Amino acid sequence: ALETSEKIWHNGKLLPWEDARIHVMSHVIHYGSSVFEGIRCYQTPRGPRLVRLREHVRRLFDSCHIYRMTIPFTMEQIFTACIETVRVNKLQHCYVRPIVFRGYGAFGVNPFPAPVETYIICFPWGRYLGSDALEAGVDVCTSSWARMSPNTLPTTAKAGANYMNSQLIKMEAIVNGYAEGIALDAAGYVSEGSGENVFMVRDGTVITPPIGRAVLPGITRDAIMRLCEDLGIPVVERSILREELYIADEVFLTGTACEITPVRTLDKIKIGEGKRGPITKQLQDAYFGIIHGEREDRHEWLTAV
Ligand code: PMP
Repeated sequence: ALETSEKIWHNGKLLPWEDARIHVMSHVIHYGSSVFEGIRCYQTPRGPRLVRLREHVRRLFDSCHIYRMTIPFTMEQIFTACIETVRVNKLQHCYVRPIVFRGYGAFGVNPFPAPVETYIICFPWGRYLGSDALEAGVDVCTSSWARMSPNTLPTTAKAGANYMNSQLIKMEAIVNGYAEGIALDAAGYVSEGSGENVFMVRDGTVITPPIGRAVLPGITRDAIMRLCEDLGIPVVERSILREELYIADEVFLTGTACEITPVRTLDKIKIGEGKRGPITKQLQDAYFGIIHGEREDRHEWLTAV
């Protein structure tokens, strides 16, 4: 069940949750014209802290820019609005969902006449891939669906329409009994999960596909690469073959929702020992230590509410 909060930010004003409604003739409903973000806010000993808010707001503006959507606010205003929305809802920990879309006012594919609407919603949200996923790991499959080719839908934008592809991946995984699917790109190299970036570890090196393999430039992905540098773990971005995942020592998924989730089997093939590996654990400890406010926030990832 969906947990709610009291207020939703809309174009600079706070609305009661129930009043944040849109018309069925809104452009986004028919043509998928939305871009959005997903940010987590964690409870820390010093109060609630948003994780990498600045990077998320920047990616939201990048997504708008790619789709020629003019958002009538500055990055600073949206940054402040996210903090304000969490604060007025008095939530200690939550998920924050800013969304920008083409609204109501004109019909037809041409998006320009439709007004651009901006909303920021926050609500409590628990573990994404199950309660014990972070420790036990998850069982995943290789998807029969590929991620988008570079000249189809831009994967650098976090656009609602991209999630039609994600839904195909996710549904196929679920009906076949898996927690998640990993998609390949159009050329057959490992791309990403329906809502997560993919990492593998082999002989002590952490490897993840480059942005050119149709992956969203994940902010958790970036955090993992920085933490590897901090910890002296070699990390490289390079194309990965499907079978390299099978023979990896460790595989894990990263994202704001799933955090750092170990993969214990892929296509029913055991990965490493079939449980969370030591480097995955080391990166989880480093990441959770920072975001839960237990370790020094050396990269300035946290924003107070
Ligand atoms: N890939 C896809 C397709 C996603 O939806 C997400 C979640 N936003 C990610 C990767 C991970 O991105 P982030 O770490 O910024 O949440």
